[in-house]
Amino acid sequence: MKALCWYGKNDVRVENVPDPKLINPSDAVIKITTTCICGSDLHLYDGYIPTMEQGDILGHEFMGEVVETGSAVKNIKKGDRVVVPFTIACGNCFFCKKQLWSLCDNTNPNAWMAEKLYGYSPSGLFGFSHMLGGYAGGQAEYARVPFADVGCLKIPDELPDEKVVFLTDIFPTGYMAAENCNIEKGDTVAIWGCGPVGQFAIRSAFLLGAERVIAIDEVPERMRMAEAGGAETLNFDDEDIFDKLKDMTGGRGPDSCLDAVGHEAHGKTVDAIVDRVKAALYLATDRPHALRQAIHACRKGGTVSVPGVYGGLLDKFPFGAAMNKGLTIKAGQTHVQKYLRPLLERIQKNEIDPSFVITHRVNLADAPAAYETFKHKQDNCIKVVLKP
Ligand SMILES: [Zn+2]
Ligand SMILES: [Zn+2]
Repeated sequence: MKALCWYGKNDVRVENVPDPKLINPSDAVIKITTTCICGSDLHLYDGYIPTMEQGDILGHEFMGEVVETGSAVKNIKKGDRVVVPFTIACGNCFFCKKQLWSLCDNTNPNAWMAEKLYGYSPSGLFGFSHMLGGYAGGQAEYARVPFADVGCLKIPDELPDEKVVFLTDIFPTGYMAAENCNIEKGDTVAIWGCGPVGQFAIRSAFLLGAERVIAIDEVPERMRMAEAGGAETLNFDDEDIFDKLKDMTGGRGPDSCLDAVGHEAHGKTVDAIVDRVKAALYLATDRPHALRQAIHACRKGGTVSVPGVYGGLLDKFPFGAAMNKGLTIKAGQTHVQKYLRPLLERIQKNEIDPSFVITHRVNLADAPAAYETFKHKQDNCIKVVLKP
């Protein structure tokens, strides 16, 4: 099959690789019909993430048709159309039973690597580093899906791929981030970053009852998309964000602040392989500018929600502000499995059509060029879907 493989910094190639096969009885193999490039793929593309290996297949947002199932798979069958969460979860461990799917204890075969950095390991993820399992991703013609009964959600025929493919990551991620804001009726939510996750966070905040959303970015087309979703916008570059937010909220500050920026491609994450991870513990590994500002701007007793991706240690983290203002801070990789059905229902009820975020449709063969376009935000690129 053809797949997009990682070879190093700014080097991805579409290559012929062996077709995936069933390994465990709970596996399924999916023929991919739609897959996407995500902001987290850029962290890999930029070469900042340790424990990548040459030839790794990228991609963690994908859906398709079931072509083969292992003997233990009961909920899906050959021919079903399914979406696949980017978080791989067993469905049976302590964490899965608490709906903390992205913290599953049983799906990262390389847990020891993550344990060195974090104490305990999160779940395995598709198309990420070996520290998070080294699972082949879905920017390919086929993919193997472990624990297929737990992960795959069957999609009704009448819903086209482009309306549901973002259930794999960015819609639940934006939604969980908004949910983590503990929004009450009439609240004002400030959101840093109008990339795809920020866009879904904006719309989710309104779905959850926010009265106002103030979105902060600097890229004009992203700000326009945020405004189309009902947000007021501020430009990072030409405004004093704190003063502006204070003015806009009658001097009190936003009720919740959401950081959908994360450590950014410019952040200097650990640039070495796993045996250097420990040494890196003495470095600041992220550039938490947006997060600092979010904590600073949040009203007393408010909530700071962090869906943005951070890798390691943060420098000059304003914990004093968080403590003295009595803030609640919520973070985490998305528990995608928890949100699949409720968000599918919202799509079916036409409360949201997630395809609004798509700006580019590209054949898998042209994915390397699409990475460049997306990375440099050329051609007003916000979200790329790939067709194998
Ligand atoms: Zn993603
Ligand atoms: Zn589990």
